[in-house]
Order: sequence, then C-alpha cells, then structure tokens
Amino acid sequence: MENIKSLNKEIFVDSEEISQIVTRLAERINNDYKDKDPVFVVVLNGAFMFAADLLKQIKVLSKITFIKLASYTSDKSSGTVKQLIGLNENLKGKDVVIIEDIVDTGLTMQSLRKQLLALDVNSLEIAVLMFKPHKFQCNYPIKYIGKEIEDPFIVGYGFDLDGYYRNLPAIYQVKE
Ligand code: 5GP
Repeated sequence: MENIKSLNKEIFVDSEEISQIVTRLAERINNDYKDKDPVFVVVLNGAFMFAADLLKQIKVLSKITFIKLASYTSDKSSGTVKQLIGLNENLKGKDVVIIEDIVDTGLTMQSLRKQLLALDVNSLEIAVLMFKPHKFQCNYPIKYIGKEIEDPFIVGYGFDLDGYYRNLPAIYQVKE
C-alpha cells in the first residue's frame, strides 16, 4: 500500500489530448455506423472511463452492453484463455464494436474476439484507446486505435495498478 501511495509517475497523455483522441474516434465511428444499428460491448473494468466519454459522442442509435473477462481457474498460468462473463445481449446478426482500454500482447482481445465471432455476429470491430504495436503478438485487425505507444506501464483514466488510480482524469506513466 505504501508503494502504491508513493508511486512515482509522470503525465503521459493529458486530459486535453485524451479528449481529442476520443472525439476523433467517435467521429469515425459515427460515420462508419450511420446506417447501422451497432452494439457496443464495453470490456470492464479498464474501459469504463474511455467508454463513457466515447459513447457520449456516439450519435447513431445503438445498444451498449458490458462484459468482464475472467481467467479460467484451471488455466490461470497461461493468462490467455479468458472466460467471457456478463453478456446479456443477443449479438447474433449484429454489428458489434468492442470497446477496450488497451491492447498489449493482444492475447486477451484475441480470446474475446473468438468468443464473440462464435456468436454469429454480422461484423466485429475493435475500438481501443491505447495500442502497444511492439508488444502485439496477433494478427487480427484493430480498426479504431486512439494512440499507439511504446511500452510504458500506464495508470489513470481507467487503467489501474492493483485496482488503484482508475479515477485519475489523465493517463500517467509509472516510473521505476
Ligand atoms: P494483453 O492480453 O493485450 O497483453 O493485455 C491486455 C490487458 O493487460 C489490458 O486489458 C490491461 O488490463 C493490461 N495492461 C496492459 N498494458 C497495461 C498498462 O500499461 N497499464 C495497465 N494498467 N494495464 C495494462
């Protein structure tokens, strides 16, 4: 707890830049989905703040649903197979947009993507606030990327460290 309180961090993306990123993504999504009836699938917990800001700017009639990903107890070590929980929307035939905080190795999203594609969706795209291209180990497309970053560990604006710092209005880089 002491380490967490005295965390050495510096601003990485300030609120103004976040707001510009979010507006730019919202404009693209509004344009791409203007004749559609999309369902936004928000991945909790990390994407809650990004999703709230982004979805306030979405003008097309759409549904929003929230899910969580839980590691299978039998497969915790791999950390890649994640069980989808909380999905209460029928996605069959729907144009689905996943809203996630960050894609790092991409394995979490790969697992989620497979599970949603298996539900017979009409289309599936990904909107992510932060993307670490140098760490990405997968090859699926990510249509909406807020910002590409190297490999700092970030906190704030939904990103946590042991559950802390999610409420910060800007994104901070954790220093050694
Ligand atoms: P992946 O499966 O793409 O490697 O990992 C994705 C998950 O790792 C994200 O949903 C997030 O929870 C976590 N993660 C990856 N990079 C960071 C980071 O810089 N900061 C925080 N707080 N979480 C991260």
